[in-house]
Amino acid sequence: MRFVLLLVMLALLALAAEAQRLAIADNVKSFVAVDAPVVALTNARVIDGTGAAARAHQTIVIRDGNIADVGDVGRVAVPQGATTIDLSGKTVIPGLVMLHEHFYYPTGPGVYGQLGESFSRLYLAGGVTTLRTGGNLNGFMDVNLMRLVARGAKPGPAIDATAPYVNGPNTFMQMHTVNSADEARRHVAYWGDAGATSVKTYMQITRAALAATIDEAHKRGLKVTGHLCSVTYGEAADLGIDNLEHGFLASTDFVGDKQPDVCPGQGRGPQSLVALDENGTAFQQLVKKLVERRVALTSTLTVFETFTPGRPLPPGLDVLTPPLKRQFEEAHARFAKNAESIYVKLFPKALALERAFARAGGVLVAGTDPTGSGGVVPGYSNQRQIELLVEAGFSPLEAITIGTLSGARYLGRDRRIGSIAKGKQADLVVLNGDPAVNIADIRRVDTVFRQGVGFSPAKLIDSVRGHVGIW
Ligand SMILES: [Zn+2]
Repeated sequence: MRFVLLLVMLALLALAAEAQRLAIADNVKSFVAVDAPVVALTNARVIDGTGAAARAHQTIVIRDGNIADVGDVGRVAVPQGATTIDLSGKTVIPGLVMLHEHFYYPTGPGVYGQLGESFSRLYLAGGVTTLRTGGNLNGFMDVNLMRLVARGAKPGPAIDATAPYVNGPNTFMQMHTVNSADEARRHVAYWGDAGATSVKTYMQITRAALAATIDEAHKRGLKVTGHLCSVTYGEAADLGIDNLEHGFLASTDFVGDKQPDVCPGQGRGPQSLVALDENGTAFQQLVKKLVERRVALTSTLTVFETFTPGRPLPPGLDVLTPPLKRQFEEAHARFAKNAESIYVKLFPKALALERAFARAGGVLVAGTDPTGSGGVVPGYSNQRQIELLVEAGFSPLEAITIGTLSGARYLGRDRRIGSIAKGKQADLVVLNGDPAVNIADIRRVDTVFRQGVGFSPAKLIDSVRGHVGIW
């Protein structure tokens, strides 16, 4: 009897041990570079994600999907039988945790192609080991993909799957309309039951529907974010929203004749921001409210950069199908010629406002939003987002923290992911070079470890090259 009890206790203990090494299906093995019970990464430069300075000559021991030890080469012994990888000249950072991602992409006028299969590979190849989708137009794809990736049946990052957008009357063919607070509540309840793990609200929602959404989501332990317009940031904060998308560029708080519950048009908010003084009282009062209510703000500079004249072509266009690549390049050329574009002033303002928010104690997280007019290509975009945070005035170490630990904290998962420390899950990105000195080295990904299994970015990217846009 005692023996049986012992067995039961051991079984329970095994269940309690959180991450085992990711078990991968046969069809995923072709993307894997390292898969061994014990791995020792030696002579690495480690940027741990907390904002601490890079540490040279480190050994990281990975066992059962976790970081069993990390420290100076002289202190941390390489276990016998470990697969040892010398990382001289390379840097290890935590896997990126990105909070405004999608598994769809604009493929035609008002049409969004569903690209879960290729996008999940590209995100992982780019160093993203955890992502939240920022609204979905797929119905069940985000939830299903979350489950497939979690059990190793497909390569990709861990997914926090949003429900389809909660929005009022709108013109999107692929978007549901909720006409009342009660309908909003039913939408959240249905998708919560179906397995969605967070909720995104959108531009035409009313305050009443937003309040019901937040109430129903919070009852279920789900967080709510919003790309708002009809509801101001200040109103949403008062209603208890957890997160606001696109930095301040979706704010209508400063539109003079704003009517309650009505989006004054997509351009009005941005116009009101161009002249806004980040040191002025109006802006600082809004920041104070967001800081006090702990409302996180997601920076998605990548999508706005694609609209801004004078900016370089975004990285990663070569993986798109040739027609989609051409379509974006033509759009980019049109944007480049438009010297009157509001983004000439708005893009630098977006950077300044986000920096001011973070410096005032606001919770800034990162995402990339592969929508807009195209050209925001997953994986590549996540690296670009970190570069743009540095352009906004954050140090490379601060930018890496925003793209890793801050995202993990928002998701409530920072005990397991988001930084490099003994006992945490082995979600790691090995980079050639040193991003603390040259942030562009964040593009030079050598290997991406998710839950202890090392994936090859080259194999993941080669498997989708030229097909992104179809699947
Ligand atoms: Zn989005």
